Parts: sequence; C-alpha cells; structure tokens
Amino acid sequence: MSTRNTDSDEVRRPVPLLDLKRQYAPLKEEIVEALAKIVDHGWFVLGQEVKDLEANIAAYSQAKHGIACASGSDALLLALMAYDIGPGDEVILPSFTFFATASAVTRLGATPVFADIDPLTYNLDPIATASLITPQTKAIIPVHLFGQTVDIHAFLALSEEHGIPIIEDAAQAIGAEWKGRRAGTMGQIGCFSFYPTKNLGGAGDGGLLTTNDEKLADKLRLLRVHGMSPRYYHPIIGINSRLDSFQAAVLNIKLPHLDRWIDMRTENADRYTSLFKNAGLDEKITLPTAGDDIRHVWNQYVVRVPDGRRDELRQFMLDVKIGCEIYYPLGLHEQECFQSIGCKLGDLTETNRAAKEVLALPIFPEMRADEQETVVARIAEFF
Ligand SMILES: *Cc1c(COP(=O)(O)O)cnc(C)c1O
Repeated sequence: MSTRNTDSDEVRRPVPLLDLKRQYAPLKEEIVEALAKIVDHGWFVLGQEVKDLEANIAAYSQAKHGIACASGSDALLLALMAYDIGPGDEVILPSFTFFATASAVTRLGATPVFADIDPLTYNLDPIATASLITPQTKAIIPVHLFGQTVDIHAFLALSEEHGIPIIEDAAQAIGAEWKGRRAGTMGQIGCFSFYPTKNLGGAGDGGLLTTNDEKLADKLRLLRVHGMSPRYYHPIIGINSRLDSFQAAVLNIKLPHLDRWIDMRTENADRYTSLFKNAGLDEKITLPTAGDDIRHVWNQYVVRVPDGRRDELRQFMLDVKIGCEIYYPLGLHEQECFQSIGCKLGDLTETNRAAKEVLALPIFPEMRADEQETVVARIAEFF
C-alpha cells in the first residue's frame, strides 16, 4: 500500500466491503472443536448437526418445518419442484434480483415473468405483479431484497384470490420481519441461503427451506435426496441437494449470534444515515430507508447515485480502496442467457433505473465507526 501521504492515515486506510475474518476469529476454537467431533463420528452428510440446524432455523423463523439443502439456489429449485412447476407454467418474479431466483424457473422449463420493483425499497411491486397474473401463473417469488421484507400482505391477498403459492426468496433476509412475522414463513415456502456473504453465512455453500405445511415438508425432504424412499426406491424424481454436517455445525454455532449481528448492522445503517446527513450528502445520493412495520436486517446498504454518476463514483471508490459493489448492474431480463428463452416482461422502468443507479457500501457487523467515517469522507471528496 503506497497511499500514505499528507492526509491522516485514518482517512487513507482502505475499507473492505466485507471482512469475514473478524467474524470468525472469536468463534474459531468452538468451530474447530465441532468439526473435529464430526470427523470422529463420521456422519458427514445430513447428520445430527443438520437435523439440529433444521430445528434451530425453523424455530428462529417461526416455521413448523425446516429442510436443509445444498444452497439457496437449490432451495428455490426444490420449492418450484414441490409444486410440479414445468414447461407451460409461468412464475412471476422481480428482474432486479440475483440470477438464481430466475434460473430456478428456467431450469424446470417454466417461463419467468419479470415484474417491476418499488423504487423506494427495490422490492417486487404487488400492483405490477397483479397485472401479470394469467391462468398459467403457478407461483409468485417475492424477493426480500437487501434484507427488507416485501409488502407481503398484498402478495398474500393475491395468493388467496388466485390460488397461487407464494415462494419467498429470503436468501438476503433471515430474521427480517413484517409486523412481527419472520421472512420465509409468511408465504407457503421460504428459501434461505447460507452462502458466506449472507447475514448467516456458512464456511461454504448451504441452504434451507421453511414451511408450515407438513405435506410440502415431506415432499421437499424427498426431493432433496433424489426422491428416494426407501433406499433405492424412487417414487418421484428428485435431485441431490444434501447439506454437509460440517456446514450445519458452523451454522449452529453462528446462529445464536445472528440477532446481535443484525443489531450491529442496524447501528451501522443508522450511523451512515446521520453521517451522510451531517455532510449534506443526502442531497447528492438517495439513502436507503426501512419501512414502518418492518425489521430490516441490512444485508446490504444500498444508495442511489443519480445523474449518471454511479459508475464514476464506483471507480473512484475502487481507486481509493473502498469496497463497494453493484447489486445488480443489469435486470435479469437484460441478461444474455435469457434472451432466447421467451421470458415475459412487464413494464420494467424502475428496474432499469435502479440497475443504473444503485451502489452497495460496506455494512458488515464488525465494521468500525472510523471506517464508516472514511467511506462517507471519500464520497464527500468525490462530490
Ligand atoms: C444468494 C442469493 C440466492 C442464492 O443463494 P446461493 O446459496 O448462493 O445459491 C438466491 N437469491 C438471492 C436473492 C440471493 O441473494
């Protein structure tokens, strides 16, 4: 690093987008001990640790059933498989989300129908969704983006009126709430990811489904093990999406800390807001907000940079070694791979605008106040 110059070191220091080492350091011994136990007992896949995780996450999310699987992407795929969704079926989802929300649909040969988002929350807009419902619509996948729940009551009303299941993509929103109800258990199935960058991240890939419906839970448990029951008899066609005991052991150790980490993220979000306001920067960029009735878990702190200056600010931040990222630079309807498969599109004006304007800033729980001050000082410098 040769950025030391006349400014104080404090302001010149690089700030990472995420630093997992700070989270793992105090847990290291406990984790190593738990992994050593698994080496001793030798039940490496879907072991007791996985059963414990399923019970723990179900309880945490206020769900009756938890079904662990190999990733958040697989959770979405399994949820759609549980509803026998396939060719000729349509699934309504946002275009402004991570790729996996849509690829679960296309992998089954069904048609993604992309609906626009609310410009304030970046979440799927229920009115836009309603206008795209057809007799072919077999599921709606609202994504609780960046850690904030969607306007779920509007989706539940649509679900009841049309008899369409709601599959919540809660990959970024474990612990988030709408009027005290937890993400992942308001609709029929909730899909969670334990990818290392999520609020509850494992030491590798992992995922989990929640549901209150016992029949669905049984089917999901079957689908994740090749539809096999009893051993080597296959009543239905499933996939291999088992979770390792290693991952479950790490996650069981981390889960009791999750609410504290969410509180730390919330403190960081509040600190950013006051730092930006004190610097007068809330006039230059649009700060994120948390809706009333909502527990935002701040997986991401995403600002909007208007006037076509987003890419310029991002480059500036990268040059001065401040971590930041664009979630997402393109709506999924613009992705090359989806051009030839006949997706259906609503009016995606807000999706297209968000893709040009959003920038995510570091907000990990262990981030220090002085690091946040550096981020804000740098953005002030840019403007
Ligand atoms: C991370 C993520 C997924 C996929 O989860 P993986 O565990 O990485 O497969 C799905 N949807 C959203 C919104 C995500 O952020």
